[in-house]
Order: sequence, then C-alpha cells, then structure tokens
Amino acid sequence: MRKVSVFGATGSVGQNTIDLIDRNPSAYDVVALTGGANIEKLAEDARRLKADVAVTAHEDRLDDLRAALTGSDVEAAAGQSALTEAGARSADWVMSAIVGAAGLPPGLEALKQGATLALANKETLVCAGQLVLETAHTHNARLLPVDSEHSAVFQALAGEDMDAVERIIITASGGAFRDWPLRDLANATVEQASSHPNWNMGQRITIDSASMFNKALELIETKEFFGVTPDQIEVIVHPESIVHSMVGFKDGAVMAHMGAPDMRHAIGYALNWPDRRELPIARLDLAKLGQLRFHEPDEARYPALRLARNVMERGGLSGAVFNAAKERALDLFIARQVGFLEMAEIVESVLNRFEASDGLLDAPFNLDNVLRTDHLARKWADEAMMKTAG
Ligand code: NDP
Repeated sequence: MRKVSVFGATGSVGQNTIDLIDRNPSAYDVVALTGGANIEKLAEDARRLKADVAVTAHEDRLDDLRAALTGSDVEAAAGQSALTEAGARSADWVMSAIVGAAGLPPGLEALKQGATLALANKETLVCAGQLVLETAHTHNARLLPVDSEHSAVFQALAGEDMDAVERIIITASGGAFRDWPLRDLANATVEQASSHPNWNMGQRITIDSASMFNKALELIETKEFFGVTPDQIEVIVHPESIVHSMVGFKDGAVMAHMGAPDMRHAIGYALNWPDRRELPIARLDLAKLGQLRFHEPDEARYPALRLARNVMERGGLSGAVFNAAKERALDLFIARQVGFLEMAEIVESVLNRFEASDGLLDAPFNLDNVLRTDHLARKWADEAMMKTAG
C-alpha cells in the first residue's frame, strides 16, 4: 500500500485527488489530509479514508474539528505549525494542493522526508524555485507537475533529451474575459471573473485565469521546473483547452499533449507515475470537436504576462514578491476594494518598489527570507492600494 497525504484536500484539486483515491481505496494508506475552513468535508473524508491525522489551517477551529472526528481514530490538529508537521509525516506521495504561498512550508517538509511531491501548488516554485529544487535534490525527493500545462510538457518530454528542446509552448484558455472588449475590463465584477469557460476550479485560480495572472505564474513555474530560459517559453491562447501544452524540438517537431479539460488526468498521471492506468476521463472525439483554434495573447489585455517575463529575467526573490503582491491584490479585488485592472497596477508598483530598495531582491535564498519577502510584499500591496484609491 502506498502511503499518501493530500494537502488542500477540501479544495478543487484536493477533492479530485480524493475522488481517485476513493476509486481504489485498498491501494492507499492515507496519512494526512489538510484543509482550511471546510471542517465538515475534511472530517468526513478523513473518517472515510481512515487518515492518521486531519489538519485545519485555522487554529481557532481545532475544537470543531475534534468534535467532527469524535468516535474515529483520526487525530485532529490545527494551525500553521500543524500543517508543517503534517508535511514531515512519512509518506510516499504527497499532493500539494493548498492555494497560495501557504503551500510552501508543508511541501518543503514533504520533500525533506524524501516523498514524491505532486505539485498543483504552483506558488511553491514561483516563490522559492531554487530552494525547492535544492531541497528535493538534497533529500533525493521527486517533484511531479500537476498543473495541466506542466503535466503536458512533462509527458511530451518523456524519453527526450532536454538539449533537443527549442521551446515550450504553454496554452491558455483566455479565461472569462477573452472575448470582452478591452474597455469593459475595468468594470469587470468578482462574479463575472469567477466563472471559467472550460475548467471547473477554485475561485482564486479562476479569477487568476481571467487576468492571466495564473498563466503568468505558470510561465515562472515552467522556467523553474524545466530549467529553460525565459525566451524559450511561449504562450498561445487556445480557447478549447484541449491541447494542454506543447514542446518544440530543434528538428522542428512539436509534441502536443491533448485531452479533455479534467484535472483528474494530470492528478492521476502523477498518482500512477511512472505507469499509466485507467482514469475516469471523457475520451476525446476530435471529429465532433471539428476545430482547434490558436492565437497570440494580447499583452495590452494581459499585463500579468509582461510582469512575469520581467520576474523571470530578474530572478532572485522577485518571484516571491510577484506572487505575494498578486495574492494580496486578488484579496482586495475579491473584497471589492480594487477594480479588476488595478490588480496588475498594484503588483507592478510593488515589484518596482522592491527593485528600488537596495539588496532586498538579492537576499540569500532561504525559507526565512522568502517568508519575510512575502510578508513585506503584501504590506506594500496594501500601501499601493491606498495610493490607487487616493
Ligand atoms: P481551492 O481554493 O479549491 O482549494 C484550496 C485548498 O487550500 C482548500 O483545501 C482550502 O481549505 C485550503 N486552504 C486555503 N487557504 C489555506 C491556508 N492559508 N493554509 C492552508 N490551507 C489553505 O484551490 P484549487 O484546488 O483550485 O487550487 C489549489 C492549488 O492548485 C493552487 O495553487 C492552484 O493554483 C493549483 N491548481 C489548481 C487547479 C484547479 O483545477 N483547481 C489546476 C492547476 C493548479 P478550505 O477550502 O477548507 O478553506
């Protein structure tokens, strides 16, 4: 039996992971499930899967979790340190599907005990790519991509020599506003941004898809995961979300990965890797689809892409700044304190402020400095918001 943990178990990726575990429960010994506010779901899944421990991120919800687990053998824990401890529990395979930079510390712990880390939480590599890769290397742990684009690239690269790779082409659906006139974006509401044309995902990543901040994070993740240069990474808008990404080789060949837009493919691929097993995914009917469309993204519509390119060129701790400022700007948009287009303005202003502050971006790359940078970037995002509002 494989020992598995699911971080962010109550979320969209977490529930898809649990769906796959539920289909073959005798194959898995569940170690830790973690969640946030959704105590009921966390406890229900932990009981059914007989997890060793269930952890909520919210310290003040420990009593609720304990009550929900009464009569079971599942241990209850709460708070940031409990999340990190869950990462340190011995497991063969760990799904990292917490949303945001909060996923970084438990993911690092899982790597330190040599687990295979299935990485949905792209923020981990965006904030701390160098640290994460070094930790995996030192502890002989493996990272597997779960973002559908990176899983697609990983699969297209199987058996290939990285020296033969010319470019990586990341596809983007274009999100909720891909057909909106540019002038209307300033007034886009949270509800409008929270509905994705092709994928069923958590609210934050869905809004990030509309602004293309999600794609921006994925560009940085691509650079870190596959060790390519920024100019080897391209983005192409593909409204059908059938081609999940492509790799172009030096001989002109392009390998594309196709499939129905269902996260259980990328999750199942990482769960079964290096094997391929039956998955409950709709099969493609290309004749019925008829056509697949592609076009270049309009960078005026999506400033996040330009900012991501600057971050990739700049390196250092700029990824941690970019992610934290973006997370805070998104909080402010969801709280209706800033408009849709102001999110990118806030992120750019925070990046510029860090660049102008001697040495901040070039501090040594360790967890303390990443967390300190994250904290400061959020504070400066609030200050940038005040200026925008004023
Ligand atoms: P959701 O918002 O659906 O779920 C997030 C999970 O993290 C929930 O379990 C939530 O708990 C928990 N959580 C929220 N805040 C915290 C915190 N501060 N500390 C610890 N746990 C927390 O997100 P998604 O599943 O959509 O996305 C998860 C990650 O996967 C993100 O990094 C996203 O970019 C990435 N991803 C998602 C895809 C998708 O299809 N959804 C596709 C590819 C990548 P609770 O709900 O109980 O409060």
